[in-house]
Amino acid sequence: MDRVTGSVGLAGCEWLQYDYNPTLIAQDRPGSFTMWRYRELLPVDDGPVRYPVPIGGTPLLPAPALRQTMGMPHLWIKDETRNPTASNKDRATALVLEDGLRRRVDTITTASTGNAAVATAFGAAAAGIRAVIFVSTDCQPDKLTLMTQAGAWVFLVRAGYAAAVDLSRAAARTFGWLDRNTGANPFTIEAKKTVAFEIWEQLERRPPDVMIAPVGDGPTLVALDKGFAELVSCGLATRRPRLIGVQAEHCQPLVRAWLGTPAGPAELDPAATVADGIAVVRPAIGNAVLDAVRRGGGAMVAVSDNALLGAVATLAGRAGVGAEPAGAAALAGLEVAVEHGLADRAETVALLVTGREVKTNRATSRPDRTAIVETLDQVERALEQ
Ligand SMILES: *Cc1c(COP(=O)(O)O)cnc(C)c1O
Repeated sequence: MDRVTGSVGLAGCEWLQYDYNPTLIAQDRPGSFTMWRYRELLPVDDGPVRYPVPIGGTPLLPAPALRQTMGMPHLWIKDETRNPTASNKDRATALVLEDGLRRRVDTITTASTGNAAVATAFGAAAAGIRAVIFVSTDCQPDKLTLMTQAGAWVFLVRAGYAAAVDLSRAAARTFGWLDRNTGANPFTIEAKKTVAFEIWEQLERRPPDVMIAPVGDGPTLVALDKGFAELVSCGLATRRPRLIGVQAEHCQPLVRAWLGTPAGPAELDPAATVADGIAVVRPAIGNAVLDAVRRGGGAMVAVSDNALLGAVATLAGRAGVGAEPAGAAALAGLEVAVEHGLADRAETVALLVTGREVKTNRATSRPDRTAIVETLDQVERALEQ
């Protein structure tokens, strides 16, 4: 790859490196743009972008009514629900599929708690590539419906999300499919770091003081850290924000690891929380999350389901932003952070709103595209039919 000069292993994830300098991000101020604006800092060679759907360039909203409610005059919402399948997963999907189109792969696979799968199903449909998806049998039915509407194959795994990841990765190795699994494919972090570049540009080329984001497997937060760190490496910023990661009380492995106290069983129960998008018991790159939070002087906080639902209502009623519970976690986390002195009301704080509740027109998932499986053999046989 032309632009990538090397790669280092950092806390269990692969970190691509570039020849950092200030010219890598253009000086102009475009009215509208996509994540390909930052392609000098992405692992794509020259030539036209093949992925056919515009991704990224999402608004950074000032949210005046919410600012008033919170007593925070410098509060911002980075609205990632404005991507084509309404979550930040579209960025990672686009970069992985761009790579797949260039390498002429015919199938992409991922495991997912829901949104990565919806993004992959629709993105693959747009790119003309087959999607084979693995989810827990707990996956939200509306999200399943969307996946099969987009023509994806969906395999349901009773043993849960971690087992779905294992099967998807084994299938990628065995059948030579493109592996979009978060944490396994470093391109997911490369794509998601463009959020940091966008926020920095939207704040007149300054990083916020504090950046708050929900944490499931970890790439969203780790990518923010990498993006802000790369701006410093390029000589375009002199500091990075404190990162605050938010998890649901019912599934908070990384908050417990951060505090150094073991999680009880009620704190590791993904089916118990409304925040399905971040309900991950064994985060793929948890150590990298803890490193990123520590490096910037941030913290990890847990929020209750009531607080998550309250944040959904407040985002709707005070900012006009529709979010699913996991997507609203940053606002719930902000209240905890302010209470505990981790963020000050006078600071510039950016909330990453990661996903919106999905609509399915009351359709149900296609039975000819779904199957409950335990083994790769069952996957192979279902796909042959
Ligand atoms: C996936 C997801 C996250 C967290 O992303 P990770 O990169 O896995 O930590 C947050 N919110 C929503 C809505 C998501 O779908």
